[in-house]
Amino acid sequence: MEKIIVAIDGHSSCGKSTMAKALARAVGYIYVDTGAMYRCVTLYALRHRLMENGRIYEFALLQHIRLGYIKVTFQLDPATHQPLARLNGEVVESEIRGMEVSNNVSPIAALPFVRTFLVAQQQAMGRDKGIVMDGRDIATVVFPQAELKVFVTATPEVRAQRRYLELQAKGDTAANYDDVLRNVQERDYIDTHRSVAPLRPADDSLILDNSNLTPEQQNAWLLTQFHQRVNQSIINPNLHC
Ligand code: C5P
Repeated sequence: MEKIIVAIDGHSSCGKSTMAKALARAVGYIYVDTGAMYRCVTLYALRHRLMENGRIYEFALLQHIRLGYIKVTFQLDPATHQPLARLNGEVVESEIRGMEVSNNVSPIAALPFVRTFLVAQQQAMGRDKGIVMDGRDIATVVFPQAELKVFVTATPEVRAQRRYLELQAKGDTAANYDDVLRNVQERDYIDTHRSVAPLRPADDSLILDNSNLTPEQQNAWLLTQFHQRVNQSIINPNLHC
């Protein structure tokens, strides 16, 4: 069957990764979490003191990228079949999801040379289609030709509550709800106001507000959209969203 590209963008902690992963599993596509890639670069910058107290040493970070010192890859967890982000070979899933990286990732992701570096890798991953990718600029920059584009959102309070429960479930006792809400709002602001690839729906994105949807309902909605789009592509192979 003809393979397509599914681009899922949206605000922080809106559940887009959960639905993207579920779709990829259901239809046998590759899933790529581009937020994890920006988080890996941020972890690298923090570890190498290329970012301290919110200040980024941009020239040094650019040199590290140019010299090939930062390698972001994914590896499938054999037990859960979930992709694990690796920074220079090390699995860094828990480090990149913590509050330190969350608090610093958006300024790093606003740097044009960081975006150029990661977007090139993302486009290479989608060359053969059969991919579900989530992020902030997938439909607008990475794959403007994607056959299915979805923009997901929910209120900041709902998103902060979901993220807070997730952190608690992972045993992150340092996190509190107000900090998480502030972080969600700050990232929304930076992501939507940056000059390069700001977060916004593409003109032809389907908008999904999932504030009042269960994960099962949103997964079912996405699967229906996917099948409709695949059927349309079969009828008209030149059709893009
Ligand atoms: O998706 P996630 O919340 O893990 O992404 C972390 C951060 O990475 C976002 O807040 C955003 O600043 C940045 N990001 C981005 N473009 C993407 C994916 C993530 O700017 N495609």
